[in-house]
Order: sequence, then structure tokens, then C-alpha cells
Amino acid sequence: MKYFLAIIGGGPAGYTAAEKASKAGKDVVLFEQTSLGGTCLNVGCIPTKSLLYGAKQYYNATHAQKYGVTATGVTFDFAAMQKRKTIVVRKLVAGIKQRLNNEHCTVVNGVAKVLDNIRQVWRIECNGETYEAENLLICTGSTNFVPPIPGIKDNSAIWDSTDALAATELPESIVIVGGGVIGMEFATLYHELGVEVTVIEAMPTILPNLDQEVVQVLLDKYRKAGINILTSTKVEEIRPLPASSIGEKIGCQVKANGEWYEAERVLVSVGRRANLNGLEALEGLETERGAIKIDEFCRTNLPNVYACGDVTGKIMLAHVASRQAEVAVEHMLKEIVNCQLSTINYSAIPSVVYTNPEIASVGMTETQAEANAIPVEVRKLPMTFSGRFMAENEGETGLCKMIIDSRNNTIIGVHCIGNPCSEFIAAATCAVQNGYTPEDFQQVVFPHPTVSEILHELL
Ligand code: NAD
Repeated sequence: MKYFLAIIGGGPAGYTAAEKASKAGKDVVLFEQTSLGGTCLNVGCIPTKSLLYGAKQYYNATHAQKYGVTATGVTFDFAAMQKRKTIVVRKLVAGIKQRLNNEHCTVVNGVAKVLDNIRQVWRIECNGETYEAENLLICTGSTNFVPPIPGIKDNSAIWDSTDALAATELPESIVIVGGGVIGMEFATLYHELGVEVTVIEAMPTILPNLDQEVVQVLLDKYRKAGINILTSTKVEEIRPLPASSIGEKIGCQVKANGEWYEAERVLVSVGRRANLNGLEALEGLETERGAIKIDEFCRTNLPNVYACGDVTGKIMLAHVASRQAEVAVEHMLKEIVNCQLSTINYSAIPSVVYTNPEIASVGMTETQAEANAIPVEVRKLPMTFSGRFMAENEGETGLCKMIIDSRNNTIIGVHCIGNPCSEFIAAATCAVQNGYTPEDFQQVVFPHPTVSEILHELL
């Protein structure tokens, strides 16, 4: 049988593409070596958010006095949090399996390898069987990057994010190498559960790609709360700690800028790299900085070969992957929407960092506008201008910034910190995506009282 589409990788890119093409009546085969849902669902976004939610419940219970509530004897059970996380993940994976089943998509559990292309048919091998397809979609994702730091290998006290998510016990202390998104989310989780946390970041600031005024609000709060955050600090070496130094437990010593730091565990979160395994037969496949190069329709330079998600190295976010998948499949199906094939607007991609408070942003920062010589007007307000924020965020100030392109008066960026900004950044994304002026956005009615009204306050 010749399939219309063969997909390698069952993460958000792969399963979205599979469902869309199958729904359109096409024969689709999807290969997944582990579990459907990819990094995001199995060892990324969803398990992290499940654990973070548990930690937030504990933190809120133990910090409820400011709302007139005193809870005594509050404890937590990390193993129970982990168990709940596993159930959440299992249910969601089953949901994806069911959806693909409903659409009669063939799912093959195994490691797929591209063999060749004969007379415009791609051949893929998996579990000893050969599959043929007209189109090939590569969604093989990314893997944790291991930096060349002496002592980083073969030490069970050194974790990556997958190890950290699997651990059933909390360490007493942890050094987190890398103050990016993964590093700061884990710093939040561990801090809220009482672990002693040190973050070591090589750049002059944590979360270097985000608006730095927004990041400063987080930095001030976390430092005041006792998280040790070192910036402009490079890790030079990691070595095991003699067992006697911290009782029976294992541990590490981390050398950074000449100083030694000790902790029971070290979490390394310094970025991820595209996974190109199994694609060796795709001779001439063009790559850029180690990731597959794609055009606006997610086509690679090879005929009928598309790529979506982390493997393209564009923006490593699940929602980018799934939108890319829609674009790729629409292109394969030659679906014309509003007289044109759809593409993805990379300048209107929302992103969220699940710290406490959350950070949410979309579009250009002031710094990026400056680097691109775009003259901008910057409007900003503390979140306390929202009544709902005041009611529910005692002691917090938050910040919301809007970046407006002065040349045509359009909103090109929104950056906020304050709970629950992740829940309304989609509204700001609509404004950026559609090139709204503040006057256009002003005509949109925001529900009262909601924290989202902070956007309206800026117009
Ligand atoms: P990242 O690129 O976000 O951050 C890595 C950080 O490590 C950077 O700040 C970098 O300067 C620092 N660094 C690099 N080498 C270092 C060294 N030797 N010593 C100290 N610091 C060093 O990468 P990440 O946090 O590993 O996340 C990986 C990907 O997963 C990202 O693309 C991220 O967007 C995505 N992700 C997204 C979410 C979310 O959307 N909420 C959550 C987790 C991960």
C-alpha cells in the first residue's frame, strides 16, 4: 500500500498533521518510537505543569495568611504529585491515540528510518517492514543538549529535565545550570517545595530572550525569596561530592567563575538540539545551525519532504509545531484559504514561562525593535491597574508592556508578568497577528473584572 503521507514522530507536530490529513480522507502512517505526544506531553510541558500546579497549591496554602486564611499542618507528598502527573499524561496520550484511531490513521510503534526515494515514492523502514509514501513529514523533535563541561557525564547526580521529572524524591538542594525557560520553571517547582535552589546562568541575565524589565520583576521576587541566582557565571567543572560531605546522600560540587557550589543534584538545562537521527538517507537535506531548513510552507529542499516542530529549530514550542503541521498539510492538500495557502506568522507567537508569577509575551521586545531599527512607542503599567489582579495577587505588582510600531501605529509586542497572564496572552496575540492599532484593539470588549483588562488599560 502506498500512503499519501508518512510522518516520523508523534509529538504535537506529528499527531496534528496525522489527524488533519486523515480527516481529509488521506491514508496516513505515523511512526513513533516511544509514546504519542512527544516531549511536550510525556517529558515536557504537561508533566511540568502538573507538578508545578501541585507545588503552587502547597505554596498558596502556606502563604494564605495575606488573604486572611491560616492553614496549619500543611504538608505535601511528592510521590503522590508524581503519581497524579503520570495519570494526567497517560490520559492525554490515550486521548491522542483514540483521536488518530477514529480517523483511521495507521500508528506504528518503532524506530523509523528513511531508506530511499524511488520514482517519487519515499520508502521508510520500521520494525523490519517497509512503508511507501508520496509525502514525508519529519517531526523528530529535539533532545537535551549536553554542554562540554568536564565531569558532566556518567554522574547519576546530574539530571536533565527528563530525569528531574521522573524522580520520585525531592533533593534537599539543587544547582540548576541554565536560567532559561526550563531552568526557571524547575527553580520555581523546587523552591515552592522547599528545596534550596541555586541557578547558574552564563548570560548577564536569566531568560535572556524576554523583555528584561519584565524579567527583572521575577528576579527581584525570586532573589528576595531566597533563590540564589547567579548571572554572567559560567560552569567550568562538575565533580561528585564525597558521600561524607552530605551524609549518606550523593551530591555534586559545581565550579563556576572559580567558586565551588555544592548540591545534592545538578539539573542541566542549557537548551535543546534538533534530532536528525534516522534521516541519514535523505542525501542533500539542507540544514541550518544543526536543524532542518524549511520554507514558509514547511517544505525542505527535497521534493515532497516537509519538516515541522523542534527539528526545524525555528521556535521550540509545541504550539509552533502544531501550527507548522497545519501549514504543511494544507500545502500538501493544496488547500486554499482566503485565496491563498496559509503560512505561519513567526512574529506573532505567544510564549509563556510558568514561573510564579507567570511571564507571557508575544511579538517584539523593545530591545529587538531597537536592533531592527524599528521606532517604537512603549506603553506600560503595573498589573495593579486591574481590579481583579489587586483582589487576587496580594503583595504583587506585576507589569504589562505594549510595544507599538511608531511608523504605522500597530501593536507589535506585548510582554507581561503577573498571574494569570498566560490565560490572556492569546488576546494580545490576536492584536499582533492582525496588525491592530491601539484604536482597533480598544473596540474589543474585555470582560470585567478580569486581569486581561490590563491590556485595555494600555490603549
Ligand atoms: P533555553 O534556550 O530557554 O535556555 C538555556 C539557558 O542556558 C540560556 O539562558 C543560556 O544562556 C544558558 N546557558 C547555556 N550554556 C550555559 C552554561 N554552560 N552555563 C550556564 N548557563 C548556560 O533552553 P531550555 O531552558 O533548556 O529550554 C529548551 C527549549 O524548550 C526552549 O526552546 C524552550 O523555549 C522550550 N521550553 C518551553 C517551555 C514553555 O513554553 N513554557 C518550557 C520548557 C521548555
